[in-house]
Amino acid sequence: MLAFGRRPVTALLDLALPPACAGCGAEGKPLCPDCRPAIDVRLPLPAGTPLGLPDGPPDPLVRLEWCAPFAGVVRHALHALKYAGERRLAQPLGEAVAARWARSGGGGDLLVPVPVHAARRRERGYDQAELIAAAAAQRLRVPMLPAVERIRATTAQYRLDRRHRAANVATAFAVRPRDAGQVAGRHIVLVDDIVTTGATLAATANALLAEGALSVAAVTVARER
Ligand SMILES: [Zn+2]
Repeated sequence: MLAFGRRPVTALLDLALPPACAGCGAEGKPLCPDCRPAIDVRLPLPAGTPLGLPDGPPDPLVRLEWCAPFAGVVRHALHALKYAGERRLAQPLGEAVAARWARSGGGGDLLVPVPVHAARRRERGYDQAELIAAAAAQRLRVPMLPAVERIRATTAQYRLDRRHRAANVATAFAVRPRDAGQVAGRHIVLVDDIVTTGATLAATANALLAEGALSVAAVTVARER
């Protein structure tokens, strides 16, 4: 039924058009060669570069990395992927995630996307974090599994101050029962589009650890301060 929804059909039509760069509008690629470097600004930084977070990665994440600040080209690209149906952007964004993760020395044996709300996925026809994770997994040669689901609706995090974000998402995630066996005993890398306080990543990590994951790290396209 999903394939016949209005949005997915619109998205398919969009894919038939030549892409325009999300950064500058130039026709030809979803991100042109001039704008592409913006999503890789942290790529040259050596492993162990401080994150600029007061207490390091939010507990229980063992590592956290991102590719670029949430601004300019990166902001436009994520907006086009999430709200304008430009799914082709998942490929360069996923490649940036893979490159930064490899460069920073991150390991792991399973990539797991942070899930969007089921209602939002239905409306949009896809989950942007899952598309990014799939592209990153291909590049890293690590399997990808959308093993986590949202089991409770949450208030959009941006509406809340930092204090209330952790409580808002604390019990919102669970491992899908059919995937529990894939999670136990694995070192997992969460993939998401944006990290702000890390509360959503931490809540997702807790769900995975509760199912026996050995460790959970995370990598995102962007960081929003
Ligand atoms: Zn451009």
